[in-house]
Amino acid sequence: MSADEETELVCTPKGLGSDMRFKAAIHAIKINPLNRPPVERMLKISSSEGLIHPYISVLTTKRWRTNDVRLSVQFMDNPDSALRKRILGHMNAWGDQGNVAFTETHSQGQVRIAREPDGYWSYLGTDILLIDPDQQTMNLQGFTMNTRDSEFYRVVRHETGHTLGMPHEHMRRELVEQLDVEKTVAYFGATQGWTREEVVAQVLTPLEESSLFGTPYEDAQSIMCYQIPGQLTKTGRPIPGGVDINPLDHQFCGMCYPK
Ligand SMILES: [Zn+2]
Repeated sequence: MSADEETELVCTPKGLGSDMRFKAAIHAIKINPLNRPPVERMLKISSSEGLIHPYISVLTTKRWRTNDVRLSVQFMDNPDSALRKRILGHMNAWGDQGNVAFTETHSQGQVRIAREPDGYWSYLGTDILLIDPDQQTMNLQGFTMNTRDSEFYRVVRHETGHTLGMPHEHMRRELVEQLDVEKTVAYFGATQGWTREEVVAQVLTPLEESSLFGTPYEDAQSIMCYQIPGQLTKTGRPIPGGVDINPLDHQFCGMCYPK
């Protein structure tokens, strides 16, 4: 595999196991009632828990409370202070318009960062509070002070977006519809080792409109968008994805978490 931009490691969204999902949804609604999905229509059709619970589990968003998001950050594998400072600086870029701040702690943190050979990922928003305290909530495979600066913008800021409760932009219907299904399955199989089912779940399944967290239209330059090479799209044009938090991302963060 060539090491060009198009085959760079992409984020693998991290979700809780199926046994945890309903509990996590109730937890998220308790932290921020705005996370609650519109279940009234569903309740008219059925009051059966077997139908309602999966619906709530999937559609509940995972935002923090609206005001004053203060999260502590623990580095689990003792990186040097320059790297800790650099990572925290990129995480706090979200505080430009959002009322959010990440502060390092030397005891147990709410956000826990490791650099294991397990790719790039973060659990989503309030889900991080349900992770075993000796497990990381965010993984930044192999990040060191020698990592290219552009990767700090592309990866650390993206994973921090997940920690703030933001899902992937590219999973919006308008973007998914631009992808060639078979080429996309083959590409992520070859570059990420994902099965067909995993590619369908991670890349080819649009978010339901009612669970959208993001801006009211697709934003292919959002930091929360994958970089999709042109070889995967029907038009042959790449979806450039986000390389930094863009003005719409900042604006949206400010709407969710106003100062
Ligand atoms: Zn991601």
